[in-house]
Amino acid sequence: MSLLYELYQEIIIDHSASPRNEGHLVPMTHFAEAYNATCGDELTLSLQVVDDRIKDVKFHAQGCSISKASGSMMTEKIKNMTIGEASEFSQKLQTILSSDHLNLLSEEAMGDLVALLGVKQFPMRIKCATLAWHALDHALINSLRSIS
Ligand code: ZN
Repeated sequence: MSLLYELYQEIIIDHSASPRNEGHLVPMTHFAEAYNATCGDELTLSLQVVDDRIKDVKFHAQGCSISKASGSMMTEKIKNMTIGEASEFSQKLQTILSSDHLNLLSEEAMGDLVALLGVKQFPMRIKCATLAWHALDHALINSLRSIS
C-alpha cells in the first residue's frame, strides 16, 4: 500500500468512527433520504437554510464506513455555503469520483474529501462515496417550505 493510500484510509476511518454533525436537525428547512442498494447504505440529511445559506446540517447514516465518512466530510464542507455553492461543489465532486476530470476542484478545496479519491480504485464502492451527495442534491431542491 502506498503512503497516500494509507493517509486516505486514516481519514475515512476517522470520519466513520467519529462522524461530524451526526443526527437529525430540528427545526430544519430541507430534508432528503438516500439509499444505495448496491451496498445497503441508508442516509438521511437535514439542513437549516437561512437567507439562501446553509446555517446548519446534520446527517445520519447506516451502512459502510465510506458512506458514513463521505456524509461526515460533506457536512463539514457545505456548512455556511450558499445553496448555489453547495450544489456546484456537489456536481464537481460527483464528476471527479465518476470520471477522470480530477482537476475540477483543487486539493485545497476538497480538504479531507481527497480521501474519497482512494475509492476510485473500487468502482463498486463509488456509490457509497456519492450517496451523501445525492442526498444533498435532493435536499437542496426539496425545501419543506415550498411543500407546506
Ligand atoms: Zn457502502
